Amino acid sequence: MPTEFEIEEKIADLLQSDLQGFQCPVCRHREFVQLDELGSHLRTNLIHYEEGDLIPKQLTRLISIACANCGHIEQFAEEPLRRRAKASFEVGT
Ligand SMILES: [Zn+2]
Repeated sequence: MPTEFEIEEKIADLLQSDLQGFQCPVCRHREFVQLDELGSHLRTNLIHYEEGDLIPKQLTRLISIACANCGHIEQFAEEPLRRRAKASFEVGT
């Protein structure tokens, strides 16, 4: 069973792999900076509310990256990457 650190390392690897060849949709730059540090307590979350209720009902943990040239931000939900990362450790077991 992989540790949380190993899963987070794999998530970072998968995201880097997925981003190969990706260009900023604004300026076409290819270098990005990851804003949400995996393993940190400071993370960006999408907060879901029910209409008329100010109490959050669900959080979607995000991984944000910013274009190193123009600052345009792209965001990815962590969960699909986490599922892929966990599955990668199950191969061959
Ligand atoms: Zn850009």
